[in-house]
Amino acid sequence: MRESTQILVIGGGPAGATAASLLAREGFQVTLLERDRFPRYHIGESILPSCRPIFEMTGAWAKVEAHGFRSKGGAFFQWGPEEWEVRFTDQGTDNVNAWQVIRSEFDQILLDHARELGVEVVEGVGVRELEFDGDRAVAAQWQETKNPEVGGRIAFGHVIDASGRAGVAATRHLKNRRYHDVFRNVATWAYWKNAKPLGKGPDGAIAVCSLPNGWFWAIPLHDGTLSVGLVTGRDLFNDSRARLDGDIQAVYDEALAQCPTVLEMLDGAEQVTGMKTEQDYSYTAESFSGPGYLLSGDAACFLDPLLSTGVHLATYSAMLAAASLSSVLRGEVTEAEAWRFYDTVYRHSYERLLILVSVFYESYRGKEYHFYNAQRLTADERDQLHLQDAFDRIITGIADMDDAENAYRLVQEHLKGGTSGDPNPLNNLNRVHEMKASPFMPENAVGGLYLVTEPRLGLATGEAPAAG
Ligand SMILES: Cc1cc2nc3c(=O)[nH]c(=O)nc-3n(C[C@H](O)[C@H](O)[C@H](O)COP(=O)(O)OP(=O)(O)OC[C@H]3O[C@@H](n4cnc5c(N)ncnc54)[C@H](O)[C@@H]3O)c2cc1C
Repeated sequence: MRESTQILVIGGGPAGATAASLLAREGFQVTLLERDRFPRYHIGESILPSCRPIFEMTGAWAKVEAHGFRSKGGAFFQWGPEEWEVRFTDQGTDNVNAWQVIRSEFDQILLDHARELGVEVVEGVGVRELEFDGDRAVAAQWQETKNPEVGGRIAFGHVIDASGRAGVAATRHLKNRRYHDVFRNVATWAYWKNAKPLGKGPDGAIAVCSLPNGWFWAIPLHDGTLSVGLVTGRDLFNDSRARLDGDIQAVYDEALAQCPTVLEMLDGAEQVTGMKTEQDYSYTAESFSGPGYLLSGDAACFLDPLLSTGVHLATYSAMLAAASLSSVLRGEVTEAEAWRFYDTVYRHSYERLLILVSVFYESYRGKEYHFYNAQRLTADERDQLHLQDAFDRIITGIADMDDAENAYRLVQEHLKGGTSGDPNPLNNLNRVHEMKASPFMPENAVGGLYLVTEPRLGLATGEAPAAG
């Protein structure tokens, strides 16, 4: 282990591996510490097409494409009485833009790729705590996961905390992680063999099917298993669990019995794993950056998995972090300027998706249903269009709410069958991505900065470079 490094990355998931890869490509010295030894299990198997351009940037896309993951043609949603599909393939082509992945394999590809690009990757070593000089993060105390008595210190110029839900900086030092009450959900899931294909929607689609009290995902994986998970409110989950003698399997089975689409897929199938469970997973840190450090991916914020946005946000924020830090290290911008850009742009993306998920839950209107809680939140907000009130903690640091408000209004119009006459909120997912104030556009500059990939990944100031 080095005693010092220019950049330390904590965590080797999609956010850490992507940030480290991009920074190594820019010629910086990067050390990445990963607590586990890969391959390791992880949930989050359904990937969005937006990851593709970022993996093309790191050079990992060809490896992901060649691996043999289950191609994902899109998503099939059965939400209340409605059925919708979203297609991910390029118009008029069979181009695959997204995958359903076994995360142990996927994450290993990304981490090995970072290593090949020159990142010093050390597995089986966790960061126990950060050291600060005043407000500035300057070093990390590490320890071996298997032999905690073996440890040491590594000094750094900058650190990117990509430690996922563990969130070393946010939970141990900054204490600035806030949970979203309306999304206090629980997910419980298992894997099945010999399931039938969905039989509708795009080839290899994720199926998302609502229940009176939650929803199920069904994700086909390339080892022939089907990942089937239940998402429900924490209180409802706890009530059911208490009623069923604490048996999580019984809670899951009872919910499955109310989900004909997934039941049909599981007819004759065999559950080949026990239940896995995660809870309270929608949160955001009040700040994503500070002197010497950036938080990326789940270490910064996490959104209910309804729209499979986790890996997208992880890799997108990693790209923003790498660009911001690269420009700081090259002396092109100050840390304060770059961090402001990073915080604002990442928060915009997160929040836009948060709004969309809220709207989506709201569209399922039955008051007796669990998601009426989410509906109440958005209805209050919509009336006033003062997103600040309920989303106060989420939006700390956002300079300009106009964007988010516009996105919200447009989605609302669509929901009401407004301008497009299309009541399907899912058709707005792509539009919301389009509506995103692209950080690549000079006209969307944040604090006078926008993101460039040529000639180097970084932040540019002022006018856009002349075409050609
Ligand atoms: C129920 C559920 C379903 C989901 N479904 C989807 C989905 O379908 N699609 C999707 O895109 N996303 C999904 N997600 C979200 C997805 O799992 C995450 O958003 C994604 O993994 C975030 O990537 P990351 O790199 O930020 O964090 P992670 O992938 O969690 O990686 C963080 C890494 O940091 C390491 N680490 C932690 N602490 C330390 C430490 N102290 N020192 C060193 N290393 C450390 C961990 O071992 C881990 O490898 C789902 C999440 C849940 C809870």
